[in-house]
This record gives sequence, structure tokens and C-alpha cells, in this order.
Amino acid sequence: MSASVIDLVATEARFGAHNYEPIGVVLSRGEGVWVWDTDGNRYLDCLSAYSAVSQGHCHPKILAAMVEQAHRLTLTSRAFHNDQLALFYEEIAALTGSHKVLPMNSGAEAVESAIKSVRKWGYEVKGVPDGQAEIIVCANNFHGRTLGIVGFSTDPETRTHFGPFAPGFKVIPFGDAAALKAAITPNTVAFLVEPIQGEAGVVIPPAGYFTEVRQLCTANNVMLVLDEIQTGLGRTGKLLAEQHEGIEADVTLLGKALSGGFYPVSAVLSNNEVLGTLRPGQHGSTFGGNPLACAVARAAMRVLVEEGMIENAAKQGARFLDGLKDIRANTIREVRGRGLMLAVELHPEAGRARRYCEALQGKGILAKDTHEHTIRIAPPLVITSDQVDWALERFAAILTQDFS
Ligand SMILES: *Cc1c(COP(=O)(O)O)cnc(C)c1O
Repeated sequence: MSASVIDLVATEARFGAHNYEPIGVVLSRGEGVWVWDTDGNRYLDCLSAYSAVSQGHCHPKILAAMVEQAHRLTLTSRAFHNDQLALFYEEIAALTGSHKVLPMNSGAEAVESAIKSVRKWGYEVKGVPDGQAEIIVCANNFHGRTLGIVGFSTDPETRTHFGPFAPGFKVIPFGDAAALKAAITPNTVAFLVEPIQGEAGVVIPPAGYFTEVRQLCTANNVMLVLDEIQTGLGRTGKLLAEQHEGIEADVTLLGKALSGGFYPVSAVLSNNEVLGTLRPGQHGSTFGGNPLACAVARAAMRVLVEEGMIENAAKQGARFLDGLKDIRANTIREVRGRGLMLAVELHPEAGRARRYCEALQGKGILAKDTHEHTIRIAPPLVITSDQVDWALERFAAILTQDFS
């Protein structure tokens, strides 16, 4: 690292809360799948800001929409109508087949909003006694960082010393439909779950799991809330990960790539009466549904479809997965993934995944470890076959080394 870069890193450490431990690279520019550091070194981005930059860095059409809208009108609050919100509603509803939309900003806010909505639905429609609503969630979940959400996390790092927490959540194992069946009571209003657990290390449930989950929820009048904040919008090779099992959630949460990485935009989508229970004054957000966010999200959704990014994710994801499986290295315990949401799990004896990510950086690839032994791989959905092959050569070179 050059002197000026060391300076920036030191300044961050001096003034910033140390709630992250970034890899030692300072980025200053991005385009498509590539990012550049302040010394001009180029890297293939295999994290995509946790899948928020699925459309590629600084996508020119999203950029143009953002600049154009920023010149006209950015924020009105929802005290007044704006001329972008209706179009955003119409387009996201058409894209996802949803009936009602609630616009928010961060993913965690979408999750919180869904929790509020399904509870309200539980009391006002299902008839659960006031204060008794239960929501079932999964072990090793990741739904964000607010107090409500970390209260039902099972990761000690995420929740220790942040309590006391809100009651009303029940934790069951992920991928276990029998556990869901056993956990449902007459007071259960919702099952909140990720289609694939991203932060837990790209954990894919057994085939047929979500078909059973859907049946159980329907049979017990329990809202199925799918957190597709990471898996949605093409990441797994389909628009929504639920489509891999041909099911439909009652409530779907989107965020991250909904803005192509330009701006925080999230949404709660529902295909029934859940969002209908919210009346004026009962929920809101100063920035939620603002015209700049709506214009950016509209462009982000448009390029995803028009430029074939979802199909490309399926195609390049399969190529990447096959290539990773072909790497013969005794550091690798398992390779898994769906679409461009991939992970390499290392043998515990192979050393920490972090060391491999640092070595990959030296080869021009930015990837992020998750937990001790997993390297996650999630490049922008615009990646080409040549770029996948380029990346695979470098993964092979690093994974055949031993950093234990
Ligand atoms: C990232 C993420 C969130 C939280 O989104 P933020 O925008 O960081 O609040 C929630 N759920 C899942 C599955 C995520 O991957």
C-alpha cells in the first residue's frame, strides 16, 4: 500500500467505530465487474457489496436516471405525492407479481416493516389475542442489524450485550419442515426465512423444503415472509429465489440490488391483505418512496431485465460452480451455490478463509470470507464467460496453496 493509502486506513481506524474489519484495499473507482484502488490496481469484485451491485458498478443507465432525477426533485416526504412513486409501484408490482408495495430504505427497515405488518394482520385479520403474536424464524438467520432483528439472531457476536430484546420470536432449524410444523401454534402469524441463508455461508435448504413450508403456512393461515434482500432480483439465476421451487411467498422483502448499489432502496411486497392493514399514521419513513429512490430503482429493475442479467446469472453461475468443482485442492471441503451466489467452504485445517481472501486480493480478486472457513463468491450479474474463467484460474492458484 502506498503512503497515502496507509494514511486513509489509519484515519478510518482513528475516527471510525471499529464495527468492520475490511480487507486492506482502498477503492476509488468502479465499472461493471471491476473496481480500482487508489494506486490504480484493478480487481474483479466477487462480493458486489453483498449483492447490492448486481447490475455492475456505476451502471450508466442507472447513473443517468439518478442524475436526471437529482436535477428535478429528490425528496418531498410522503406528506405529498411525487411523480415517481406510482410508476415505481406499477413497475415493481408488474415485475414481481405483487399487489401491494411498501417502500423503505435499508433492508433491515423492510424486515422491521414486515414484522409490524404481519403482527397487525395477525391481530386484525387472523384474530390472534392482542400482544400474543408469534413469528417463527430460523437458526443462523441474517435479517439485518436493528434491535428488533438482532434480538432473534442466534449468532452470539450479533446479539451479545445489545439486549433486552423484544419477545415474540421462536427459532427453529433451517431446512427442517417438521420443525416448522411442530413450532406453529394458533398465535403464529408468520414464518420469516431466507430462501438461501447468505450470511450463514450460502446455505441451501434441501429440495422440496419450501414446497412443504408453503403448504404448512397455507394450512395454518401463517404468512410466509421470504427475505429475498440478498437472493432476489436475479442473484440466484431467477428473478426471485422462490421460483426455484415454484412457490409464492405472502410477503417478499427486497433491498440491496433494488437500486443497483446507487442508493438505499428497499421494499415490502405482499400478495394479500397484510399491507392493507396499515392505515395513515401507523407506519412511515421520511425517505421511503422518495422520487430519487424511485427513479433509481425503476432504472435498476429495467436494466436487470432488458440486459438479460437474470439469465446471465444462471448461465455464468453454472459455469463458475462447475469450474470451482473442478479445482482439485485438499483445502476445499465443499463448493456450493445457486446462480451467482456461490461459496467455497474450506477444511478447518486449511486455515482461515480470511487468509485466502487476502491472497486472492494479491491476484486481483476481491472476495469476502464469512464465518471462519467460507469464502463467498457473488460477482455482479453482468460477468462474462471470459471473466469467470479468468477468476477461476486465480481461485485455483490460491486454493491449491495452504495457508494453515
Ligand atoms: C443485507 C441483508 C439484510 C439487511 O439489509 P441492510 O440494507 O444491510 O439493512 C437483510 N436480510 C438479508 C437476507 C440480507 O442479506
